[in-house]
Amino acid sequence: MSAGADFVPSYALENVHDAAALVFPFAGSRLLIAPDAALPCAVDLRALGEPFRTFCFGTLGGQKCVLKVWPSSRAIPAGFELGDYRFLWGRWPEGCLAALVRARQLAEWALCNRFCGICGQPMDLSQTDIACLCPACGHKAYPRISPVAIGIVMRGEEILLARSPHFVPGMYSALAGFVEAGESAEECLCREIREEAGIEICNIRYFGSQSWPYPHSLMVGFIADYRCGELSAQTSEIEDVAWFRRDALPVLPHPGSIARRMIEHICSQRPQ
Ligand SMILES: [Zn+2]
Repeated sequence: MSAGADFVPSYALENVHDAAALVFPFAGSRLLIAPDAALPCAVDLRALGEPFRTFCFGTLGGQKCVLKVWPSSRAIPAGFELGDYRFLWGRWPEGCLAALVRARQLAEWALCNRFCGICGQPMDLSQTDIACLCPACGHKAYPRISPVAIGIVMRGEEILLARSPHFVPGMYSALAGFVEAGESAEECLCREIREEAGIEICNIRYFGSQSWPYPHSLMVGFIADYRCGELSAQTSEIEDVAWFRRDALPVLPHPGSIARRMIEHICSQRPQ
């Protein structure tokens, strides 16, 4: 893995046994790494037997990246550890993390589409599209991507952050929720903030988006202004929701997350 190399996504079933390829091995949707956080070499992987899916999913600085997926029921062999985006962030170069984000989601997709959802037959990989293809009925299953609207609400010098029960102690982050069928990302954000914090927002501005491999989310980030309403944590998903002054913030989310980037962006702006 070379620092500074760009990851370029692609898809191919040919030449997947190229000895020079970087292999991303997954036990189910969990990445196997060596104890030094490196990708294991092909020799180490022999103990796992044959993967049920093998395909090329891109190149990293011109080097082919190959995904191999074993069933999740297989025990983690001695000498391997489980790799995770949050853990590897800061340890792996950016291009390699981009490869991991794609590989993690494709491993999940391969695992969830071993059999056809229409007729139950075993699926093949399509030769042309990145899709699982049913040889019996022709059904195609593409990798699922689940959009999530995530937003920071501003009220003068304060920003709105919330706490989930599973966060580390003291940590607050942006409110977020999955976009529902028939809903725009902006409508989703308004609904989530109304449901979870009890307030109405306005002036919704698009900030940016981020592919997030837990398990296949596309985080769509917005910054919005407070309009009206009394703050109160509304659902069981939220332990607390509060206004924080920009110069007195709590423990913030992971530096590799769009929530953190949005918070840091707001705090880098001049006071209004
Ligand atoms: Zn079928």
